[in-house]
Amino acid sequence: MSSTSLLETLIAFPSVSLKPNIGLIHKVQEILTEAGIESTLAPDPQDASRTNLFATVGPQGVPGVLLSGHTDVVPVDGQPWTSPPFEATHKDGRIYGRGAADMKGFVACAVIAMVAAARRPLRRPLQLALSFDEEIGCVGVRHLLRRLENDLPAPYLCIVGEPTLMRIGTGHKGKSAYRAVCCGQAGHSGLAPRFINAVHMASDLVASVREVQRELSETGPREEGYGVPYSTVHVGVIHGGRALNIVPSECEVSFEIRHVSQDQPEEILARVLQRLADRVAADAVHPEAPLPDIQLTNSYPSLSTPEDSPAVGLLGSLLPPGTRCTKVDFGSEGGLFKRSWRETPVLICGPGSIEVAHKADEYVELSQIEACDRMMAALVDFLCQ
Ligand SMILES: [Zn+2]
Repeated sequence: MSSTSLLETLIAFPSVSLKPNIGLIHKVQEILTEAGIESTLAPDPQDASRTNLFATVGPQGVPGVLLSGHTDVVPVDGQPWTSPPFEATHKDGRIYGRGAADMKGFVACAVIAMVAAARRPLRRPLQLALSFDEEIGCVGVRHLLRRLENDLPAPYLCIVGEPTLMRIGTGHKGKSAYRAVCCGQAGHSGLAPRFINAVHMASDLVASVREVQRELSETGPREEGYGVPYSTVHVGVIHGGRALNIVPSECEVSFEIRHVSQDQPEEILARVLQRLADRVAADAVHPEAPLPDIQLTNSYPSLSTPEDSPAVGLLGSLLPPGTRCTKVDFGSEGGLFKRSWRETPVLICGPGSIEVAHKADEYVELSQIEACDRMMAALVDFLCQ
């Protein structure tokens, strides 16, 4: 079986986040088993129809190279696809289908590399970690890491196959997402100043977020290579108020911090809340208004692997001469792998472009799949040395 034909098979599983991925995982398990490779599953404790898979080939108890991919894809609802999204369509040297780039192409290449590695005299193991629900905040892989981090020797190198056009991704920002619940007092709007207005509190929070964003852009630490080279804070959703003639008693604000590796999200959050507290305390009407309740809804760490590290040298030696390093403007499971095994270098490298991911008519160039296959073949050779 080729990587391309396996990619076609994988695209046909509509493994949208929060939906079952077990069909896809069983297919991969079947291929691995035929090659004599055992695999273990680490399912969602609440729902076994969504699961991680881990497999290793080669010697045990030795640090290996871990290939990491997510099996979930983003939904296709409302997108103007010109071909069936869950059916691989070949056209002009490309394979179209949801997940072609993000990131079933890499998953297919990684599974085929495992099968090839099983026939070789490996001196270090090759390992495969497939996760579920990555797209909704790296949710699934945490269940796998809890099992692996104590049992598995820290990998020698971890390659996360998010689409980088086969460049060497050395870093991404970390993310922390928050929900702020602002509480006020319902009352007749004819007497508005007598009551605490939750929407007004929310707007003070938004203003504080924007103040801190301005400071970060002017004086915050910079990490070149990103589209925006400093940490960002952004409000994405606001829900509040029931009717124009009722002072709103509740307003919910969702916001996120995406931080470069020198910044700590807790510190940025503290600055936002201090700005807000100052604003409220200075309010002439309701300085006693309660500050919002803040809940952390999701977070993952940043990733920053030095470009002059031996890991970059190793991955570079498996790729065509002159392959560039890059930083990526999306998150990945890489930061979590790094948190589990501090000494393991983590790099991002996979076929396809993030530019076409999450959109209608997502595709991967066949030449990218071939480039990934070549990198995998060179990796397996390295593992035999
Ligand atoms: Zn992805």
